[in-house]
Amino acid sequence: MKILNVIGVAILLIIATTACDDAESPQTEWALALHGGAGTISREMPDSLKQQYYDGLRNALRVGEIVLREGGSALDAVEVVVNSLEDNPLFNAGRGAVFTIDGKHELDAAIMDGSTLAAGALTGLTTVKNPISLARKVMEDSPHIFFSGQGAEQFADQTDVERVENEYFRTDTRYRQWQRSQTNEAMNLMDPNNAIWVEGEKFGTVGAVALDMNGNLAAATSTGGMTNKQFGRVGDVPIIGSGTFANHVAAISATGWGEQIMRNVSANTIANYMEFHGASLQEALNFVLTERLNPGDGGFVAVDKDGNISMQMNSAGMYRGSVNSRGDRVVMIWEEE
Ligand code: ASP
Repeated sequence: MKILNVIGVAILLIIATTACDDAESPQTEWALALHGGAGTISREMPDSLKQQYYDGLRNALRVGEIVLREGGSALDAVEVVVNSLEDNPLFNAGRGAVFTIDGKHELDAAIMDGSTLAAGALTGLTTVKNPISLARKVMEDSPHIFFSGQGAEQFADQTDVERVENEYFRTDTRYRQWQRSQTNEAMNLMDPNNAIWVEGEKFGTVGAVALDMNGNLAAATSTGGMTNKQFGRVGDVPIIGSGTFANHVAAISATGWGEQIMRNVSANTIANYMEFHGASLQEALNFVLTERLNPGDGGFVAVDKDGNISMQMNSAGMYRGSVNSRGDRVVMIWEEE
């Protein structure tokens, strides 16, 4: 009888300890990560500019965090985060988009709902202020996934999204980059080892991934593409599975040399590597960055169904940040800061 009592007490102690452990490490209820582009970002950047980038990333994180903390959907969170970055002229998406070879702005965007595999994508937009919001309408209000050029503008005509003159996207910084690219042979080459990736000449993109309290994942990416891109060039961003992907396993948004990201179907490869190899999110990003892409190609932000976040790049820097329900919060540009 005494022995039974001792065993009973021991069992109770084990249960109590386990409960205590759980209390110490609560589950991640929601998680959010974003990026504002990857490339050779010089550490010599003036402090005031650095501060502007950090502020831009923090503001975008904050709007997404509010949505998720109040029980909103991952889709709503990634949309508002990307809207915030699209409106910020520092980043190559929406206002602040790079110039095409003929001095215009053509925007690409995609959004994906991991719980249903529903997706919306656009390429070659010229008058839509916030491409990601139109991508969401493609996903929710059309029977299709992907519209391009004139058709994309026509679809926009049927919606209430805000329209602007193409000139709205222009900033002086991007204009100077474009002018420099006209005079520099190397800038015309789509090669990360060439001058297009030197300080301030990176192409950039913005993106966000989120897990919400209902366990749903979503990804969104928006970009002006590459400086000097040629007629109708489509990058990885709106290609579902390349620059943007979300399913029941993970949500991923890419940035970097679009042609490379596309030929490796990178975002989908990350999710599949996890699902079919049992790899962690961290391992899957690392696999694509080291075994599929070349050094300098770019980076990813990603979140998995358990709320793990990974933000990795094989370029010198990536504007990025993350926050979760456990209070972990980070905003970074380089590998170590
Ligand atoms: N991936 C984008 C594109 O190729 C550019 C970038 O992310 O820097 O259009």
